[in-house]
Amino acid sequence: MATPQPRSNVAQIPAYVPGKPPTVQEGLTSYKLSSNENPYPPLPGVVEAATGAVATMNRYPDMGSSALYAALAARLEVPESDLALGTGSVALIYQVLGSFCDAGDEVVYAWRSFEAYPIAVAAAGATSVQVPVTAEGRHDLDAMLAAITDRTKVVFVCTPNNPTGPSVTQSELDAFIAAVPSHVVVVVDEAYVEFVRMDDAVDGVATYRGHENVVLFRTFSKAYGLAGFRVGYAVAHAPIASALRAVSLPFGVNAVAQAAAIASLEAEDDLLERVEALAEERTRVQAALAEQGWQLPASQGNFVWFALGDRSMELAAAADAVGITVRPFAGEGVRVTIGEPEGNDRLIDVAAHFRP
Ligand code: PMP
Repeated sequence: MATPQPRSNVAQIPAYVPGKPPTVQEGLTSYKLSSNENPYPPLPGVVEAATGAVATMNRYPDMGSSALYAALAARLEVPESDLALGTGSVALIYQVLGSFCDAGDEVVYAWRSFEAYPIAVAAAGATSVQVPVTAEGRHDLDAMLAAITDRTKVVFVCTPNNPTGPSVTQSELDAFIAAVPSHVVVVVDEAYVEFVRMDDAVDGVATYRGHENVVLFRTFSKAYGLAGFRVGYAVAHAPIASALRAVSLPFGVNAVAQAAAIASLEAEDDLLERVEALAEERTRVQAALAEQGWQLPASQGNFVWFALGDRSMELAAAADAVGITVRPFAGEGVRVTIGEPEGNDRLIDVAAHFRP
């Protein structure tokens, strides 16, 4: 008897491997350094705003998320028509593919990069064109340009790149965008933008202002510490932003998430002080690892990358044994989030005893 069959592309969708929760070990505080989360608890005003919204859970959220759109527009100095919210920036990835790709269209991105890209591309019925990152874990923008064909609809530039860490510079991005055909959507995925401390850093908002085909993806999940609530946003000129809103899930961003995101923007100065502390911790960890002889990519995100190939699972197990849970990518490398100083110290210790 015939049974219902999913579209043929569904079988091609790779599985998303989430960061593991910490393994509980008697007498040892464990640290989850596997999902690039912010280790700090939310600031008090954020908890109160979220709790307040919980009281009206019998009502649908404001479908237009009007207060959050207004807050973001004021904060970024962009018109509300140039914004699109999503349930995390991962949803925006689906939205951009769903609104710009027909079956078989090509989507170019660096690899390895964010693992949701191939999943979302396959789900959209589009075709992934993966361009290997360089030995330093950087985007090979020239090779990405060369990979663009007349089937290409979308290009992702993940900066800083998850999981390898490096960012592109503004000069590199400008040259890249100038060479990309103007009908191709260039997504600049800035999930970790708040952690960037470098010369010639990308100014995403200025970049979008200058280009009709550029869209920024940002998130409240990382620096803003709201990963559990699922809010992200896109910034693009109105034709792209309205396409992203058109394919969004109605009532997707829930009321608690909207309230918490607004309160987080209001508490931004304090939040960003914590982000500064994490950036300083990153520098401390990177310096200690360099001192031990490790040559890791120059990460600008809240994580570091050990390109250990076949020995990746071994490092992950060694980390697990001392109570830190990291994110191995079997056969490729290990990504470790910068977390609480104690967790970071344990990473430094594990790395010191692990000979590459
Ligand atoms: N982009 C990148 C590069 C990421 O690393 C992540 C989260 N791991 C996201 C987007 C999605 O984050 P969220 O859906 O939580 O906003």
